[in-house]
Amino acid sequence: MITVLAGGVGAARLLRGILAVHPAEDVTAVVNTADDVELHGLHVSPDLDTVTYTLAGAINPETGWGLVDETWQAMDTLRRYGGITWFNLGDRDLGTHLYRTQRLSEGAPLSEVTAEIVRGWELGLTVLPVTDDRLRTMVTIDEQGDGDVVEIGFQEYFVQRRHDVEVRSVRFDGADAALPGPGVLDALAGAERVIIAPSNPIISIGPLLAVPGLREAVEARRSDTVAVSPIIAGAALKGPADRLLRELGHESSVVGVARLYRDLAATLVIDDADADLAPAVEAEGLRCVVAPTIMSGPDEAAALARTVLAA
Ligand code: GDP
Ligand code: CA
Repeated sequence: MITVLAGGVGAARLLRGILAVHPAEDVTAVVNTADDVELHGLHVSPDLDTVTYTLAGAINPETGWGLVDETWQAMDTLRRYGGITWFNLGDRDLGTHLYRTQRLSEGAPLSEVTAEIVRGWELGLTVLPVTDDRLRTMVTIDEQGDGDVVEIGFQEYFVQRRHDVEVRSVRFDGADAALPGPGVLDALAGAERVIIAPSNPIISIGPLLAVPGLREAVEARRSDTVAVSPIIAGAALKGPADRLLRELGHESSVVGVARLYRDLAATLVIDDADADLAPAVEAEGLRCVVAPTIMSGPDEAAALARTVLAA
């Protein structure tokens, strides 16, 4: 089995590459749920849905989230009433949130509902929410830059403020009491290869490791674990990973990523653009593999998957 620790877009692309070169039945994704948000009474799980929609070939190529061929009529109606409109939910996408919310209200755990949704899209892999318990990234920001800090929910930071605000700290509400989801620890213990996807180390991989037992379970597999750097030439391809690393006292480079992952992974895959930093990565105690890591299409994703599986 191959087990992939996953956030949203970067992980979904790598998983797509893995499924192109490896049987889906042998792949498990352990996915972040700390971005989840309740809106309009609906339970939205952005990272789970990005993984599912991408692997189904149904992701919206323009946005990188939501479904292709989307319409926005429900949002127009909400706007008419002065409802919550800063978080866009497309008409097609809404079906997923309606289904998930209904099943959760019936008492089904998120893991069971996720399996149903993944089956609905006829995907062969196993997708596991990292926990069935409530886990929420909370972000302390300095909105005016005057030292007055306020803590807000992840989507208020990421979407409403377009992650364009100074972050002082991040915490994962509910992590202390959360239990690993069914199958998560077994997927780590039983994998021949564990992969840390190129996802945001702070807010996508961070919450996974904050669930009690997860960090230890990955550390126990260190020699079989390969991470792919989400930072290329000092920057994130999208999103606030570079900025967050700096604001929280890390280095926004493959060396900074190596320091965060040195106890978790024996190997770090970095982009060709960072080849000159390979010795500095190895000085942190990881083996360094240099390869093209920008997954601009299915071919690039499959090539990176081959590199990661062979590393
Ligand atoms: P989100 O949940 O959708 O924000 O996505 P992730 O947690 O996966 O984080 C986005 C991160 O993935 C950013 O730091 C990107 O630099 C990284 N990323 C996205 N696509 C790629 C890619 O093709 N290659 C690499 N190396 N990183 C990527
Ligand atoms: Ca995410």
